Amino acid sequence: MNGSRESVSSYFGCQVFSEAVMRERLPKNIFRALKDTIDDGKPLDPSIANVVANAMKDWAIEKGATHFCHWFQPMTEMTAEKHESFISPTSEGRTIMEFSGKELIQGEPDASSFPSGGLRSTFEARGYTAWDCTSPVFVKENGPTITLYIPSAFCSYNGQALDKKTPLLRSMDLLNKHAMRVLRALGNVTSKRVIPTLGAEQEYFLVDRSFVDKRLDLVLTGRTLFGAPPPKGQELEDHYYSAIHERVAAFMNELNMELWKLGVSARTQHNEVAPAQYELAPVFATVNVATDHNQLTMETMQKVALRHNFVCLLHEKPFAGVNGSGKHNNWSLSTDDGINLLDPGTTPHENEVFLIFLCAVIRAVDKYSKLLRSSVAVAGNDHRLGANEAPPAIISIFLGDQLTDILEQLAAGGAKTSKTNGKLKLGVSTLPPLPMDCTDRNRTSPFAFTGNKFEFRMVGSSQSPAGPTFILNTIVADVLSEIADELESNGDVNKKAQEILQKIAKEHMRIVFNGDNYSEEWVREAEKRGLPNIRNTVDSLNTMLDPDATAVFERHKVFCKEEWHARYEILMERYCKAINIEALTTLNMAKRLILPAAIKYSGIVANAANAVQSAGSYSDTLKKSLDQVCQLIDSLQQNIASLENATQKASSVEGVAKQGEIYRDLVISAMNAVRKDADKLEMLVDAEIWPLPTYAEMIFLR
Ligand code: ADP
Ligand code: MG
Repeated sequence: MNGSRESVSSYFGCQVFSEAVMRERLPKNIFRALKDTIDDGKPLDPSIANVVANAMKDWAIEKGATHFCHWFQPMTEMTAEKHESFISPTSEGRTIMEFSGKELIQGEPDASSFPSGGLRSTFEARGYTAWDCTSPVFVKENGPTITLYIPSAFCSYNGQALDKKTPLLRSMDLLNKHAMRVLRALGNVTSKRVIPTLGAEQEYFLVDRSFVDKRLDLVLTGRTLFGAPPPKGQELEDHYYSAIHERVAAFMNELNMELWKLGVSARTQHNEVAPAQYELAPVFATVNVATDHNQLTMETMQKVALRHNFVCLLHEKPFAGVNGSGKHNNWSLSTDDGINLLDPGTTPHENEVFLIFLCAVIRAVDKYSKLLRSSVAVAGNDHRLGANEAPPAIISIFLGDQLTDILEQLAAGGAKTSKTNGKLKLGVSTLPPLPMDCTDRNRTSPFAFTGNKFEFRMVGSSQSPAGPTFILNTIVADVLSEIADELESNGDVNKKAQEILQKIAKEHMRIVFNGDNYSEEWVREAEKRGLPNIRNTVDSLNTMLDPDATAVFERHKVFCKEEWHARYEILMERYCKAINIEALTTLNMAKRLILPAAIKYSGIVANAANAVQSAGSYSDTLKKSLDQVCQLIDSLQQNIASLENATQKASSVEGVAKQGEIYRDLVISAMNAVRKDADKLEMLVDAEIWPLPTYAEMIFLR
């Protein structure tokens, strides 16, 4: 469908087996039963599966589908899919198209080649995928083939989670349970369910494909491992929110259309801070659907980019020296009857439900800040967190003036007032006075209250939002369970609520920080407050093994100990592998491209010097240039040898914990040393000979 000038509402969600389609195509009783599962979390009645499967198949075939697949989210940050056609041969040598309830509900992919962290030996290959009926199925085009996609959870033969969706769904149930206990205790009798919501803002880079094709580092690692700083970076602040380039606008237009057809409500788009950097934000949805939609968004961005001769980079730091990319996870809690539990209303100090939920989040984030930090610990994010651009590695919460004031009042005994703001007068008679928000924004905070939700900004752009979200869900649910225990015990509920609020305000004020998170003073101040500052992935992942981290998952059955520890193994191994690939790519490019170019150039200079000498003259410049190039060649060669040693050492060590340390301490610095020489050479060697597209070309040419 080209759809470019068609009204969006005529094709939005046309590839989704949505509630409206289900209502139309399913018998009433079946639709009801399915809806009870989707909305109220009731167990799925297997007897309805055949009918649902058949309706899905007919609908998909009308859309041109020939295949179906269980679509799941192994521990790779991406999705996986194995396609089966609907065909079922008949005895007369013909075929009919079939799709059974069993095929809808369960798949049995070979799980042996997905990360399992020791939960399963390779010979125990069986894994299961299970239909997650709370996220709608859809059809999607892959080239000429159209396939019915069934969002699924993925587990081992023994039922242990091997994916990101299973713990996310478990954490949603958990959060619902304890949030409902709190709501009931506080007198809410109308809401039936509490649902965490997520709006994942996605940052990304677009680079012309012709440049990327010449950069093995971008192709294999998603970031540049070499490149001298360009003469111009982002210092003019002229890219953020600037007019969108036509070629990029064409890309965004097609991206939006593809996403809208898939029911992804892409809404906001703009140029980001770094040149060649952009952002897309959807309208929020339940965390499960929003996670599936974010995966579709990342995949569609990459696919559509290629059609426009761009490559979409989702790495956290594709280019040194300019801003990296994050994923801002906007998170809140809402009830089935439409109450946003983190909406302060106009007089927050009187809004007991809001204050209890706000304080639950504050306590959870302070108590489990290391766990939350570990949810964003991936190799790419180490370039971002703590660098002077993105949230620092220290977790703190921005609350803004009004709520901080209320928290202070609570700590001192009870909240009596809410600060308000009047109108903002712009001093221009033709402009209306604007109502002023009660709090400013703070761009530097890693975990900021933004009106009626929290925005977790440390998430890496390439990460699945599921990990950070199920951790946030779990730790908040844990605190809500404590609060519910207290509220449900005998006595005056309101008095107990006040006591809880006061206690949390007193105990956890240290996590609240409204100032500049990028400043040196904050690092010192945070240390005084006893807040952890965990600067790299290895240190952060190690905290996953702390007893209280394991205990919170075990206590609430989000993970058993083996599942959680397996995740540690998987994540640490991924870190090691990521750095190893970068090291090998650095070596490959340094030896095969950069060193030969430098040697070639030294020959040119030497020949020129010889020619000048034969002609009876002498050039000091030629002599000096030659010396300089030769020195750098020698240094580069030595640093290549050191990197080879470091890489060998790291890969020969047993155990991921030790290996991670060697990659972090030896391999990364050895890589940096190679890059330093190479980048100096880039500034010396004849541009005609230099084998790699430069930073300026990659980030400024469109
Ligand atoms: P910002 O100014 O922070 O860049 P954006 O408009 O780009 O804001 O993104 C804000 C995101 O927050 C959107 O994806 C939006 O849908 C999401 N959001 C708004 N309300 C909620 C909520 N209650 N729960 C979760 N996400 C929300
Ligand atoms: Mg934004």
